[in-house]
Amino acid sequence: MALNWILVFTTSLRSIHPWRSHWNQKGSSREVPSLAIISTGIHFLKIDDESVESVNHKREPSDQELRKKALKTKREPGHRIFVNRSLQLDNVKFYGFDMDYTLAVYKSPAFEELTFQLVLDSLIDLGYPTDIKAFVYDRTFPLRCIEDSDDDLNFLTGNEVRQYYPNKYVTGDDRIYVFYTLFNLPEIYLIACLIDYFSSVSEYVENNTAVKFGDNILSFRAIFNDVRTSIDRLHHQGKLKELVTSDVEKYVHKDELLPILLDRIRSHGAKTFLLTNSEYWYTDRLMAYLLANGGEGKKAKRDWKSYFDFILVDAQKPLFFAEGTTLRLVDPATGNMKLGTYSGPLQQNQVYSGGSCEVFSKLIGSTGKDVLYVGDHIFGDIIKSKKQKAWRTFLIIPELNHELKVFHDKREIFNTLEELDNSISELLRNFDMTANQGPDVSKIKHKIQNKILTRNQADGSQDMESCHMNFEKN
Ligand SMILES: [Mg+2]
Repeated sequence: MALNWILVFTTSLRSIHPWRSHWNQKGSSREVPSLAIISTGIHFLKIDDESVESVNHKREPSDQELRKKALKTKREPGHRIFVNRSLQLDNVKFYGFDMDYTLAVYKSPAFEELTFQLVLDSLIDLGYPTDIKAFVYDRTFPLRCIEDSDDDLNFLTGNEVRQYYPNKYVTGDDRIYVFYTLFNLPEIYLIACLIDYFSSVSEYVENNTAVKFGDNILSFRAIFNDVRTSIDRLHHQGKLKELVTSDVEKYVHKDELLPILLDRIRSHGAKTFLLTNSEYWYTDRLMAYLLANGGEGKKAKRDWKSYFDFILVDAQKPLFFAEGTTLRLVDPATGNMKLGTYSGPLQQNQVYSGGSCEVFSKLIGSTGKDVLYVGDHIFGDIIKSKKQKAWRTFLIIPELNHELKVFHDKREIFNTLEELDNSISELLRNFDMTANQGPDVSKIKHKIQNKILTRNQADGSQDMESCHMNFEKN
């Protein structure tokens, strides 16, 4: 079976190119952008040999032709797949999937609200004032993005820059913490709420890095550490997971196309595997929900494990892609692990815990580039697997759905920006080097700034004022 082009997401809209394939026009409209992206792959897998043959014998279409063709498609921008490189799908023998926020997409804001409330309880146990129980999670506040914007930040003065960054490089700065996943959204908002609270209520006297009350000092760093520790504890303890599994429909999206996707991949001769950091009992509950009664033409109840050739839980990524941990066999009936290191072979319907990418690759017979791994964590799923083990990677970026919508709906703004940019280039290109003064580009720059402002407003950029606090300085 000939499968041609593959997709790897780009995070820069400027470098996006439409997927090079025959579009299947039957795009379904569903709520979950990430799974929508995966499901587009189902349609792609339907390409028959004849159509692939015709593509192989035609000249390569130009970018302009591809763009025109993409614009004609009826599929919504959020349901399209974009690539930043091409790859022969023929060469992919193994399709791996992460679980959390990849196959199991949590519902927003229900899941974040649950996390938010549980962390508030945990902080109150640590001595935080019970007032904070009045905080209400605002889903519009945290925005995951690439660190490329200087909007909404405090600009440092020249002296401050020299003080904090004497070499003008930001390296190993412990004042910067990168939040990678959607799991982090509630804590980002909570940290903002707490800083706002302690800066606003009069019994706390603020200086630059802490608040003082009575004989006690609470630093902003301590607030951050308390929230981080509470979140980590919450994820490691069972309470959050128990609440999710007790009402899984409330917290997890279910995509009816997922079992079809997994079956379709295997029917084309490739193998599938699940590689998740979650423990077995939780994986079992979520996957049973996601894959219950699914598959093509399958009405009878089917064990979710039968959709995968290999299942690895407790993987401890990114450690899995380095030295890893001990590979153990899990007893699916009890969830207990068998004593000792499992030496193989890996079998279907069995569940394994831990291990390393090196051992796993040996046991399944993969060479690195024949694996395509789908995940949502740019560091733990994508960068490490690609750099250390040469896996092909597929990054789920649900935010692209909104970005693409704005990009599509506000195309006029982007076109104007490009034209203004070209005008500056034109002025500079024709600049007379012997002249005393350079060309006046201030008006064009002003226009660019206005357009960028309009674009940011369309993009839904938030500022700190949107942090809805009810606490006024007394
Ligand atoms: Mg994940």
